[in-house]
Amino acid sequence: KNHPEKSSQQSSQPVLQNPSSNTLWYPYAQMQNLELNLEVVEANGVYLTMKDGKQLVDGISSWWCVTHGYNHPELNQAMFEQAQKFSHVMLGGLKNQVTESFAQKLVEITPDGLNHVFFSDSGSVGVEVAIKMALQYFFNQGNQNKTRIVALERAYHGDTTACMSVCDPAEGMHKMFHGITPEQFFLPAPTSGFAPSEDALEKEIAHAKTLFEEHGDTIAAVIVEPLLQGAGGFNIYSPEYLNRLKALCEEHNILLIFDEVATGFGRTGKLFAADHTNISPDIMVLAKGLTAGYVGHAATIASTQVFNAFLSDSPSKAFMHGPTFMGNPLACAIGLKAIEIFERDNYLEKIATIESILKEELLGFEHDEIVETRVLGATGAIEVKEARFHHGIQEFAAERGVWIRPFERYIYTMPPYVITPEELRKITQVMKDWFQRER
Ligand code: PLP
Repeated sequence: KNHPEKSSQQSSQPVLQNPSSNTLWYPYAQMQNLELNLEVVEANGVYLTMKDGKQLVDGISSWWCVTHGYNHPELNQAMFEQAQKFSHVMLGGLKNQVTESFAQKLVEITPDGLNHVFFSDSGSVGVEVAIKMALQYFFNQGNQNKTRIVALERAYHGDTTACMSVCDPAEGMHKMFHGITPEQFFLPAPTSGFAPSEDALEKEIAHAKTLFEEHGDTIAAVIVEPLLQGAGGFNIYSPEYLNRLKALCEEHNILLIFDEVATGFGRTGKLFAADHTNISPDIMVLAKGLTAGYVGHAATIASTQVFNAFLSDSPSKAFMHGPTFMGNPLACAIGLKAIEIFERDNYLEKIATIESILKEELLGFEHDEIVETRVLGATGAIEVKEARFHHGIQEFAAERGVWIRPFERYIYTMPPYVITPEELRKITQVMKDWFQRER
């Protein structure tokens, strides 16, 4: 569009004339009064560099995905080398080595029994794929009754339609759509922590028992964010809950889906949250750290039992799904390199250090406004009584060289794993200073 005012601006660099203009529609934001004062021009390691030269430590890894830090030379190189071969090629009817190798590697590192990888382009689509796969698993066996999914209250599984249907129906951000998305079942979120008493555990799992006894014949799958409900408020629960849930699922012929979009690749202290448990889910979804935050990609990984239900002499049992960018070679080349670095540089050790610093700095920190502080792996969160308590914290933190973005009643950090102890303490200090500031 040749607007006279715009064409008079002669510059080879795109210039942001009015950062608060409404041309770009920002996520999760009331656009009427959105004012953005931070403009990123560069990012290296754990630092975001702003237009005015100020550097901020990224306390939340760009929505939890930049696990290896920004501008990683080896990831850049892997991406560049692949781009010189082919940056994209369709997966329908054509195979290629990098996508095949990435699938192979994922099968090697994920829990036993998960053997078949279906790629897609974002966490939400990865969850959609998992749900569709679970439903068709039963359809393919002639069972048309198992059409419902069970989720936990407080769950967040993404923003597309089937994902919205399994997000918390009462308080979740998609509650407006409840009633027009597919109707699902919800279990109370387990809230008794990582190591609950036998009594508490029994009570929590009893909800699933009752639901499955009454409605098991209509339930295809249960989907959970294992151990850590992220966007639902950093609710940490126990591996044993998941062990027992799996046993109940087996009893009632229900599939168990682990949405490890957020928990995968080390966030809970092990490579996958599933590694804290004794079981393997039937389907697992990975995204975010899958490509170390370089490009959007997701993997939905199925057990052999699930996969086998799609095998037949008849084409009608095939899985009719195929996002254009599935198995994108750039994503796969980056993902392969990211796993190599994760293993070679012992990222689990780095995560253990992050966890111990977060525990030291956050657990036991007290203030009238605080309900609870929680830490698991490379995740530390402070729950406050009222959401309005943190109005202004983003600016406060940015002035002190830290980028965090609270939501609802939670102030949290999920840093890149390459963060140093000093940089991490800078983040936790700013989080704590916010409570102790003069008002
Ligand atoms: N599932 C979980 C557990 C998530 O935390 C998220 C994103 O935060 C998603 C799914 C959706 O992933 P994406 O934003 O890549 O669509």
